[in-house]
Amino acid sequence: MTERRQGAPGALLVIISGPSGVGKDTIIHALRERSPDAPRTFVVTYKSRARRPGEVDGIDYHFVTASEFQRLRRSGAFLETANVHGDWSGTPRDQVVAALSSGRDAILKIDVQGARAVRERVPEALLLYVAPPSPEALNERLVGRGTETGAKLKRRQDDAPVELASQDEYDHIFVNETGKVDATAERIDEVLRREHERRADAVVTV
Ligand code: 5GP
Repeated sequence: MTERRQGAPGALLVIISGPSGVGKDTIIHALRERSPDAPRTFVVTYKSRARRPGEVDGIDYHFVTASEFQRLRRSGAFLETANVHGDWSGTPRDQVVAALSSGRDAILKIDVQGARAVRERVPEALLLYVAPPSPEALNERLVGRGTETGAKLKRRQDDAPVELASQDEYDHIFVNETGKVDATAERIDEVLRREHERRADAVVTV
């Protein structure tokens, strides 16, 4: 088992989760724009799927083959891994440790399985869930963004009920109303500000 490491007091491990298509990437973009100088690291996770047009390796994800992913997993590189809609996904432990030990929040955009695994290992992690206004609105967004079609789209549609059913495991739920991304980001920022006040001396161990 990997040796555990302590973060600086007050640095938070934050998970932003929610079903595929709910708008997590757009919210994270808005969070970056709102507070460009906040001491936060948006962790770049690993994915075993092909890059979509416009995605950049090392920025959107570290894109790796399934066999490279398994090699990294065996070497202990990941804090958690999950098969998400058929693709291996994993949170690099070193980025999380580097952020927390330098006093920065580590922000993970991971799925509900990953959130559960991190909470088990790091009970003090802060779990945020982004919910759609309705299952129908979620489906419209998923179909409308056009990044998946056929079997891949169907897989995400089939996974949605399970993802929606896990909301109660989270510390805070944010409904991402259609066309209101900035308002969602503002509410998340406000919760982070309050949690920082509350947990000013808390130490996160990963
Ligand atoms: P996409 O293929 O649409 O980029 O991502 C699908 C899902 O994978 C997203 O809901 C995202 O939260 C999740 N995801 C991305 N990176 C990780 C990771 O490192 N671990 C886990 N468990 N989920 C991830």
